[in-house]
Amino acid sequence: MSAAGAVATAGLKGVKRIDEFDLKDKRVFLRVDLNVPMSGGAISDDTRVRAALPTIKYAMEKGAKLVLASHLGRPESKEDRPRYSLEPVAARLGELLGIEVLLVDEPTSDAPKGLLPTLKPSQLVLLENVRFEPGESKNSREFAMTLASYTDIYINDAFGASHRAHATIDALPSLVEQKGIGFLIAKEIEMLDRLLHAPAAPYMAILGGAKVSDKIPVIENMINRVDAFLVGGAMAYTFLAAQGAATGASRVEKDKVAFAGEMLRRIEARGKRCLLPVDHVVTRDIKDTKDVRTTDSAQVPEGWLAVDIGPKTRELYRKELQRAKTVFWNGPMGVFETPEFSKGTFAIAETLSQLTDATTIVGGGDSAAAAEGSGYAGMMTHISTGGGASLEYLQGDKLPGLEVLRKRTPSSSPVISANKEA
Ligand code: ADP
Ligand code: MG
Repeated sequence: MSAAGAVATAGLKGVKRIDEFDLKDKRVFLRVDLNVPMSGGAISDDTRVRAALPTIKYAMEKGAKLVLASHLGRPESKEDRPRYSLEPVAARLGELLGIEVLLVDEPTSDAPKGLLPTLKPSQLVLLENVRFEPGESKNSREFAMTLASYTDIYINDAFGASHRAHATIDALPSLVEQKGIGFLIAKEIEMLDRLLHAPAAPYMAILGGAKVSDKIPVIENMINRVDAFLVGGAMAYTFLAAQGAATGASRVEKDKVAFAGEMLRRIEARGKRCLLPVDHVVTRDIKDTKDVRTTDSAQVPEGWLAVDIGPKTRELYRKELQRAKTVFWNGPMGVFETPEFSKGTFAIAETLSQLTDATTIVGGGDSAAAAEGSGYAGMMTHISTGGGASLEYLQGDKLPGLEVLRKRTPSSSPVISANKEA
């Protein structure tokens, strides 16, 4: 965190941070990302809740009357409500902060406005899943007007949702005069900017995961900056197919083989390196963990599918990464959810944890989960809480949630005038 008020990193130019506002007795609308993975009605990983705490604590210490808002999953109908309620999140938040979290079912009712004037310093308001409101995903101005009617200061700290122009991310701050970011977004952008602007060389990108097609813009954007790509995961088989290797029953995106070949040529033409797996862990069926074998070359035999990088590849990647000064990792090296196929992914996490003088940044939902699961998460420079948002930012796209905060809202706006009179 840089000194109070000073936002140094390029990506945050013209954006205010929460510590630049006087929060005392102000109604602060804080958009956070509490979109946690749930299983059987319980939170299975509370990383995002914990990541939201510093800004929440800061605002409470400064005497703000706090209204928190977040989405959870993708509820589609009224019937989805119980499954996507923020109830368990409210409980967890209350526990972590030792305060009372008042969950408000209807953000458009009179309840939030009524609660705020008498809110105690040990209480905060959490709005129920904002995606229960159809206006949220539609970026509705009308819905935003209602929220703005009880907002003096708007703060966005929901990095993982900032690539979406939704009402609590875009329409609402466009109506509010005093607006800025929280500490989490500040850190996320600061870290990702390290990769975009003058990363220390050698800069290596470890790319894996499900599909080449998801990652094309990132690969294209990185090709000029990265010194070496290390490829794994299902993605590797499309690249290997482009080199003419046998891929057996592995996942290959046939319509992306030409793109992969073109990338390999472009990387080589720039005198850079692209490492592909030299051996694999294979099985006949992704559900079969009994008859699991290791190939002795990059070739995958007929009828087998590759589910992880092999031991020689783990060693090759480890050696290569030891020279790195900057590393970006997106995408697991194999089907890491299955313990038998997780060695390659966890080996990468272990290697990154040992690079003590390198900047190591992990982006992507599954990659972050893998890093956490490896036990080495604490030894990396940064694990992004935003999957899609971090990739979009790195591929050079503007995040709507940040752009809106650079724009001034005229103080003659109807909502601002109404709030001033109130
Ligand atoms: P992230 O969320 O970090 O961006 P992705 O969503 O692109 O990562 O990819 C993660 C998924 O890729 C995981 O569910 C994993 O099981 C799958 N995966 C990785 N390697 C393979 C493989 N060889 N075959 C099939 N699926 C794979
Ligand atoms: Mg994913």
